[in-house]
Amino acid sequence: MLKRFLLTPGPTPVPPEVLAALSEPVIHHRAPRFTEILTEVVAGLKYVYQTENDVLVFAASGTGAMESAVVNVVNPGDTVVVASVGNFGERWLKLTRGWGAEVVALEYEWGTKAHPADIERALAEHPETKAVYVQFSETSTGVVNDIRAIGEIVAKTPAILVVDAISGLGATDLKTDEWGVDVCVAGSQKALMVPPGLAYVAVSEKAWKVVEAATQPRFYFDWVAARKKMTGDSAQTPYTPAVSLMVAQNAAVALIREEGLENVFARHRVLGRACKEGVKALGIELFGPDDPEANSVTACKVPDGVDGGRITKLARDRYGVWLAGGQGKLKGRIFRFGHCGYFGASDILVGMGVVEMVLAELGHDVAFGAGVGAAERVLMKSPVQL
Ligand SMILES: *Cc1c(COP(=O)(O)O)cnc(C)c1O
Repeated sequence: MLKRFLLTPGPTPVPPEVLAALSEPVIHHRAPRFTEILTEVVAGLKYVYQTENDVLVFAASGTGAMESAVVNVVNPGDTVVVASVGNFGERWLKLTRGWGAEVVALEYEWGTKAHPADIERALAEHPETKAVYVQFSETSTGVVNDIRAIGEIVAKTPAILVVDAISGLGATDLKTDEWGVDVCVAGSQKALMVPPGLAYVAVSEKAWKVVEAATQPRFYFDWVAARKKMTGDSAQTPYTPAVSLMVAQNAAVALIREEGLENVFARHRVLGRACKEGVKALGIELFGPDDPEANSVTACKVPDGVDGGRITKLARDRYGVWLAGGQGKLKGRIFRFGHCGYFGASDILVGMGVVEMVLAELGHDVAFGAGVGAAERVLMKSPVQL
């Protein structure tokens, strides 16, 4: 027997209440009950997004919503600014270039944040810019960008701000409306505690003006068609939705409401801190800044002399614990400990204990219990339930 723990930043563990909701008999998506579910899910997502904007739901992985945030915004030849700090930033570059944008690329060293001043300069040099694309939590490096500062800059220009918050929404405070996020992309399988398969976008009035002038060919991901069908008293989706996942998302947003958004953020802050202190106590360097708001994933440098590829394999095959490796050019150089969504104190302790055993086996000089102990000292002081 191998007891499994999913300690990756997506997919993430699914709470029992949500698993139970997933097993409910499938209802028809043109039934009144489905309209109620869609309406409740959208209301719950608005709570998590901290927005009054329209929220659209698609049956897709997060990348589907990212693509929709390009085809509904960018016409071929339009200028866009992409601030990329990692693997998912590169996805914005590929998507915008792929759909024919003139891309002003601000590429940062992986493990660092985007500089708002560079975005300000790029917008001044390119006043025709249609949109600025950036990540909130860059899951490949653990870095969280300063969306509040970026939003303030973009709001003063005709450009709209498009944020990929797929791993950050529901883990770290993101004030969509207050910070001027015009398009905010999310996915079900990270901090929103549902299996993969649903993707969300919140769209501001400023963004709708841009969307209404978009000429790019599109059908399934057409936001105008989606809004027409999804809003109002008899809300439905234009095409067959992922009904069971919607039922599950409804159960998950109920859990978030019950805990309260502020407590959800506080819990993630404690878990992120505990994880960071734990790995540091093992002599492992963090990859990227030791940021109190970067709480979806902890990226750790593989210590010298250790074969990075073997860390995640050994944790998985010997102990049933899934950690994430490095993506793109970080493959073999870092490993990542996810803690966004349905995570508590016990997950951090389980993961940290396994990291200790695995690193020791791979030749790192481990003081057994040092990482677990450092994490425990943080967890015990938590102001909120974990
Ligand atoms: C997971 C993730 C994605 C990709 O989402 P998929 O659901 O795999 O398509 C994009 N951006 C960020 C920041 C992510 O964490």
